[in-house]
Amino acid sequence: DVKISVLGLPVHLMANYSQWLLECLQHNRGTHVVTLNAEMTMQAERNESLAAVIQKADLVIPDGAGVVLYLRYLLRQAVKRCPGIELAENFLAEIGQHQLDTKIFFYGGATEVAATAAAFWEQQIPDLNIVGTHSGYHSPEEEQLLQQTLAQLQPQVIFVGLGVPRQELWIAKNRHLCPQAIWVGVGGSFDIWSG
Ligand code: UDP
Repeated sequence: DVKISVLGLPVHLMANYSQWLLECLQHNRGTHVVTLNAEMTMQAERNESLAAVIQKADLVIPDGAGVVLYLRYLLRQAVKRCPGIELAENFLAEIGQHQLDTKIFFYGGATEVAATAAAFWEQQIPDLNIVGTHSGYHSPEEEQLLQQTLAQLQPQVIFVGLGVPRQELWIAKNRHLCPQAIWVGVGGSFDIWSG
């Protein structure tokens, strides 16, 4: 595995990202996953907090075509693009295949979007154990309730779809609630899975 710097941000190159996540899961190794694209690197240039969070993330994958082009140019070798939504989908499939009974939580999107996405995945992979969902638009009081729910449920995989940079900052601030979980910022993936 290799770690490269792209405009001051780390990017990890490995053959199989979902395999790596599976190992984190099996060892209860708390992990924050960032899926990096060009738009995000530009945001990070103006937003120091976002840059700091990406620096500290445990896994930063080359999601966007621009980032992959840059890496190819820099390394003069083939670099495989790994779109975040694909990583999330592969990871769910691996969890189902291994029958790990992993507790999964979906957070983000408009009302019912995360719940509909969860229903979609439970239909695709009946063995998945999605223990809860929460929409991404709510009051501060509701956010406290969500934090309590997460602390109590201790999901092992938490997908956060609030868009960039909201989801990255939210994960950095809240990952202590479930220190052994794998937290992944998934952007608009819930919208796509919910149809
Ligand atoms: N979103 C949310 N709460 C907010 C703002 C956005 O849950 O306060 C959700 C929005 O409904 C959408 C996702 O965040 O599902 C952002 O998707 P987008 O594709 O814009 O994210 P990107 O990956 O491009 O940052």
